[in-house]
Amino acid sequence: MKLAINGGKKASDTYIPYGKQWIDDDDIDEVIKVLKSDYLTTGPKVLEFEKKVANYVGSKYAVAFSNGTAALHGACFAAGITKGDEVITSPLTFAASANCVLYMGGMPVFADINIQNYNIDINDIKKRITNKTKAIIPVDFTGQSVDMDEVMKIANENNLIVIEDAAHALGSEYKGKKIGQKAHMTEFSFHPVKHITTGEGGVITTNYKELYEKLMLFRTHGITRDKNLLNNKKKPSYYYEQIDLGYNYRMTDIQCALGISQMDKLDKFIEKRRDIVKFYNKAFANIKEIITPFEEDYSKSAYHLYIIRLELDKLNADRDEIYEALQAENIGVNVHYIPVYKHPYYKELGYKESDYKNTQEVYNSIITLPLYPKMSSENIDDVVNAVIKVINYYKI
Ligand SMILES: *Cc1c(COP(=O)(O)O)cnc(C)c1O
Repeated sequence: MKLAINGGKKASDTYIPYGKQWIDDDDIDEVIKVLKSDYLTTGPKVLEFEKKVANYVGSKYAVAFSNGTAALHGACFAAGITKGDEVITSPLTFAASANCVLYMGGMPVFADINIQNYNIDINDIKKRITNKTKAIIPVDFTGQSVDMDEVMKIANENNLIVIEDAAHALGSEYKGKKIGQKAHMTEFSFHPVKHITTGEGGVITTNYKELYEKLMLFRTHGITRDKNLLNNKKKPSYYYEQIDLGYNYRMTDIQCALGISQMDKLDKFIEKRRDIVKFYNKAFANIKEIITPFEEDYSKSAYHLYIIRLELDKLNADRDEIYEALQAENIGVNVHYIPVYKHPYYKELGYKESDYKNTQEVYNSIITLPLYPKMSSENIDDVVNAVIKVINYYKI
């Protein structure tokens, strides 16, 4: 372990992680009520949670899944992705955004990112479309919306399905409206570092009944009791049919009860995140070795992550050295993300770094600072002081 700079006192006495959940006693009470009830799973809390999420984002339907990755898998199934299909996504994301395509036998195609907002580059999407392209999975990186009108325009012109990976963007807005109503399907995650948590959990929102029905089938083995979908309709009520191959990707009522309770706090959580971001931006405004996050006019971000970029030509250290120095100060910085094409599994599939110039440049200079609603003002000050201390030490 690297020592704090000058062997001096660490910027923070305790380790500050990059993200964490906020659970109160009233959240716990709701979970206990379910544990004492008749249904631990496939009960009433699931639909209640789904309705709450759909109402919040302004979509017709929401389907809960056991985690965000399962939800993306379901969306790729509903989109009909199959062997030989290509799906365009961003390389600067968590592997799940691309893995879900591979699960269905399709091939992820990465478009480079925009150097300013770090989201998938609209013009590069156009360049990577072929006659095999079936869908686009744009990722609202850090919570900032992709320019969805442009993505939907490309999709309509080329007959493509859009699955928005909004795991970072629950409560974010695009042109004044909540994310989750524009794409054919939108995925959210409830992992503890995300905006609200259910332990593990995810959801797909959609406005299309046909997609909704496929998602419902997929998360329960491909089995249905819906009279409209059954081949043999004249059967007693015990009767069900498996009409496709699905999985057990259900979320429990225990998790959904936590989710319902957490949803009531979402707006407060986002406000706190945005306040911390404002504080960081102001604190770093005059440090010329740091680029603070850029917010597009069309986007109001719920800020899952706060990522700074280092001006490496003004520093005597690379990103990894700065990262280690901040860790030594007890600041739980991180790097989001190692581009998907760099992983050995993907390298094996033939992807090349040289195809993604902007992604490489951004990846080599980014650091994620701690950001979560429960941060104390002391935590926030400690992070700022640590960054200033480390940058001052390494600046040219
Ligand atoms: C968190 C996340 C997911 C889903 O992850 P789960 O842990 O499976 O809920 C998908 N995409 C991105 C970009 C994410 O950050």
